[in-house]
Amino acid sequence: MARAAVLGRLSWRAAQVVAVRDESASARTLVLDVPGWPGHLPGQHVDVRLTAEDGYSTQRSYSIASAPAGARLELTVERLEDGEVSPYLTQVLGSGDPLELRGPVGGWFIWHPGDLDPALLLGGGSGVVPLMAIVRTRIATASTTPMRLVYSTRTPDTVLYGDQLRRLGERDSALQVDLVYTRRAPPGWEGPVGRLDGARLATLAWPPADRPACFVCGPTGFAEAVANLLVDQGYAPERIRTERFGPSGA
Ligand SMILES: Cc1cc2nc3c(=O)[nH]c(=O)nc-3n(C[C@H](O)[C@H](O)[C@H](O)COP(=O)(O)OP(=O)(O)OC[C@H]3O[C@@H](n4cnc5c(N)ncnc54)[C@H](O)[C@@H]3O)c2cc1C
Repeated sequence: MARAAVLGRLSWRAAQVVAVRDESASARTLVLDVPGWPGHLPGQHVDVRLTAEDGYSTQRSYSIASAPAGARLELTVERLEDGEVSPYLTQVLGSGDPLELRGPVGGWFIWHPGDLDPALLLGGGSGVVPLMAIVRTRIATASTTPMRLVYSTRTPDTVLYGDQLRRLGERDSALQVDLVYTRRAPPGWEGPVGRLDGARLATLAWPPADRPACFVCGPTGFAEAVANLLVDQGYAPERIRTERFGPSGA
C-alpha cells in the first residue's frame, strides 16, 4: 500500500491547465486539473516536466500554492527573463494546454492542519508560494492556529497575492500579514525599507521564548540569511524549517 503511494508520487501525470491568473507583471498562477491526484499537504511541491518535439526534456520544481482541493492544484511561477522553463510557463502555456507533473514531493517543509503551535512564516520573493498554501489551508480547515506571515519583496510591483493577503489579514485577528520592502515601498509607507534584520524581526515576530514553528522559504540567499538570523536571535534551530528555491533543473 505504502509502496503504491510512493510509486504514484514518482509517476508522471498528465495535467491540464484550466485557467491562468496574472499575479504581477512577471508572475502567473496556473490552475491545473490533475486526474488521479492523491492530495497534498501545504508546503509540498511538484516536479514539472517539459518535453520538446525532438525529445529534449527538462524539469523544474514548483511549490503548490493552493490548499488541498481534490484534483485541483495551483502553481505560481515567477518569470526569470533568461530562464529556460519559467518564460514558457508564464507566457506561452494557456488554458486547455496539457502539462506533465509528478508529486506531491516533500516531507519536511509541511504544515499539518492539526498543528496548534503558533506558525511564523517568512517568505522572500516567490518563496511566499508554499506559505500561501499554508495560509489558505488554515482558512479552508477553519484552523485557529495563530499565524504571522512576514513577506519580503523588492517593490510594491513584485507583491504576489497582495489583495488577497490584505483581505485575509483584515478579516482574521489571528493571522498577521506584514510586508518587508527591500528596495522601494508604496507611497505613504511609514516603515523602514531594506532587508529583514534583527530589529525588524523583533517587531514582527513572536519572541523566541514562545517557540513558534518557523517556516522560511525563498531564494537560497534569503533562506539561509533568514534562518541564520532566527538562530542568532535565539529561535530554536529544531523549530526552523527552510525551503530553498535554488535552480532545480535536472
Ligand atoms: C522545491 C522548489 C520549489 C520551487 N517553487 C517555486 C515556485 O513556487 N515558484 C517559482 O517561481 N519558482 C519556484 N522554484 C524555482 C524553479 O524550480 C526554477 O528554478 C525557476 O522557475 C527558474 O527556472 P528557469 O528554467 O526559468 O530558469 P533556469 O534556466 O533554470 O535558470 C536561469 C538563470 O536563473 C538562475 N536561477 C534559476 N532558478 C533560480 C531561482 N529560483 N532564483 C534565482 N535564480 C535562479 C540560474 O542559475 C540561471 O542563471 C522552486 C524551486 C525549488 C527547488
